[in-house]
Amino acid sequence: MSFNQNPRAVSESDPGAPLCVRAFPAPAHANRTPFQRDRERIVQARAFRRLAGKTQVFTSRASDHFRSRLTHTMEVAQIARHVACALDLNEDLAEALALVHDIGHPPFGHAGERALDQCLQRHGLRFDHNIHALRIVEHFEQRYAAHRGLNLTLGVREGIIKHSRDYSPVTHPELAIYFLDQAPPLEAQIIDLTDEIAYLTADLDDGVESGLLEIAHLRQHVRVLSRCFNIVERQHPNVDEKYLFHEALQLMQNVLTDDLINTTRANLELHALETLQGVRFHRQRVATFSPEVEAERLQEKQYLYDHLYTCPELELEHNKAEEVVTALFDYWIESPEELPEGYHEDIQTEGLARVVADYIAGMTDAYILLQYAMVKRRPRLPRV
Ligand code: MG
Repeated sequence: MSFNQNPRAVSESDPGAPLCVRAFPAPAHANRTPFQRDRERIVQARAFRRLAGKTQVFTSRASDHFRSRLTHTMEVAQIARHVACALDLNEDLAEALALVHDIGHPPFGHAGERALDQCLQRHGLRFDHNIHALRIVEHFEQRYAAHRGLNLTLGVREGIIKHSRDYSPVTHPELAIYFLDQAPPLEAQIIDLTDEIAYLTADLDDGVESGLLEIAHLRQHVRVLSRCFNIVERQHPNVDEKYLFHEALQLMQNVLTDDLINTTRANLELHALETLQGVRFHRQRVATFSPEVEAERLQEKQYLYDHLYTCPELELEHNKAEEVVTALFDYWIESPEELPEGYHEDIQTEGLARVVADYIAGMTDAYILLQYAMVKRRPRLPRV
C-alpha cells in the first residue's frame, strides 16, 4: 500500500492516527487502507443501494434518463476524486465522503425533506440529512456480528457531518467528538463544492430533457453556460444546438472544476497553509471558487430556483410528496403498533416522532408510495 505524503492531506500511514480510528477496534487490513475499507462499506450498505430509488430533482416516472440520487452521487464521486488528485489530497477519503454525502436524504428529494422536517417540528424536533446520514452509518446498517452500524473511521464520520455546514457545540453537544471548533479537512471541504458542480450541470441537462427548460433561454440567462456555449459554438460551427448544449455542459463542468482546483491551490499559497492543522485552524474554508465563478454559481442557482425547482409542474409533484410524507407520518404517530417490529425497541430511547421519521427517511420513492397506497385504504388516514 502506498500512502499520500502531502502534509495538507489526511494521512493513513499511521493506522492509529485519530481520523483512522473506529468506534469498535478493528485490526488493520493487509492490503486496504482505512478509507478504502470505508468506501467499500458504504457502497455495500443497503442505504447506498436505496439511492437508486430516490428522486434527485425529477422522478423517474417521466423519463429513464433523469439522474437519481445514486447517479448524482456517482457524478459527485468522480469530480471529487479528480479534484482530490489535482490537489494531492487523500483521494480515497474524498471518494468515500462523496459516495456517502446524500445517504441521509429522504424520498422525493428536497420536498420530502421539507415535509419530514415540518412534521418533526410539530414535535419539537428537526430533520437534518447530515445527522440522519450519521444515524444510518452508526445505527441502522446492521451487517456485522459485533456491533451496529458500519463502524466507519472518525475521519469519514466527521466528513459526513461537516462537509456542507458547521454545527455549534451549544446546539449539538452530541456532535462534540467531531472537532466542531475546527474546519473540516480539505477532503471534506471539496465535497460540498463538487456536489454543487455536479448538480448545477446535471439539472440544466435534466431540465432540458424534461422540456421544462429551453436551451435558448438558458443561453440568454445563465451566464456561466452562456460563455461556455459561445466557446463551443466557435469551435463547432453549423452543429445542431442540442450537441452544442452538451458540449457546453461538459465545458461548464470543467470550468467550474478547474476554478475550484486553482482557487483552492491559490488560497493555500496565499495563507501559507502547509499542513492539515493549518487548514483546520484557518478562520474560513479554504476550498472555494474564485469570486467571479462564485457569482456565476449563485446566479445559476437562482435561475434554477426561479425556473425549475419552483415551476408549476414540479410544484405539483412537491405538493403530492408533502401530502404523502405528512399523511404517513401522522398515521404512524397515531398507530405506532403498525410500525415494523424492528422499530418498536427504539421508541423507548429515541421517542416515537424520531423513529417514525427514521422509518420514512429510509424509504425509496416507490416504497413510500406503496405504503401510502396500503394505508390509504384504511379508514383513519385522510384522503388526498
Ligand atoms: Mg448531493
